[in-house]
Amino acid sequence: MTVGELLQHGDYGIGTVQDLDGEMVVIAGKAYQVTGSGKINQLKPEQAAPFATVHFNAPHAQTTLKDIDKSALEQHLLEKYPYRNVFFAVKIEGEFAVMHTRAVEAQKKPYPSLTTATKTQPTFDAKNVQGTLIGYYAPALFQGVAVAGYHVHFLSADHQTIGGHVLDYHLKQGQVAIQPFATLQQHFPLDDQAFLKEDFDYGDMDRSINQAEK
Ligand SMILES: [Zn+2]
Repeated sequence: MTVGELLQHGDYGIGTVQDLDGEMVVIAGKAYQVTGSGKINQLKPEQAAPFATVHFNAPHAQTTLKDIDKSALEQHLLEKYPYRNVFFAVKIEGEFAVMHTRAVEAQKKPYPSLTTATKTQPTFDAKNVQGTLIGYYAPALFQGVAVAGYHVHFLSADHQTIGGHVLDYHLKQGQVAIQPFATLQQHFPLDDQAFLKEDFDYGDMDRSINQAEK
């Protein structure tokens, strides 16, 4: 799907870019690419995405949290809200004392497995950075449609300092919003012959997703 089409389905989200060329972060209706070199670009409508998840931002609940790390915050949301068996978006706008991300590097044909492609990935660190974290929680039942558990990306407010797939953080203070979904729509690439003909090893894929996305 092109970025232009994707943005008709939502104004916030996450994904990757054609050839696995970096991490996508969709914020306020604009799609950004964080490349393996750490450079942040705004994506053009004609650029393509092999995988992305978006939604229209309409938070269901909002709370201010202070001085909390990634695992504690994620656990807190599952305890505070009754949504562990459904999909929900999580959005945090605030200041992060520590932000630790990574970005996958572009792959060339013949494409390697996801595990090989993501084995060595550049990582990035920033301290005391303002920005937006966006992503999703998916119940374990839906591993494959999404990454089971939390999958979140980050973009600094200046769109320059740091971005990417979030490995860890410490939130100094921020507005934490969650938005559960009653409906999930999945798009498939019916015009992609390579995808249609591929003989996928689903057992290996599950392991690959877990290894690549945690
Ligand atoms: Zn990611």
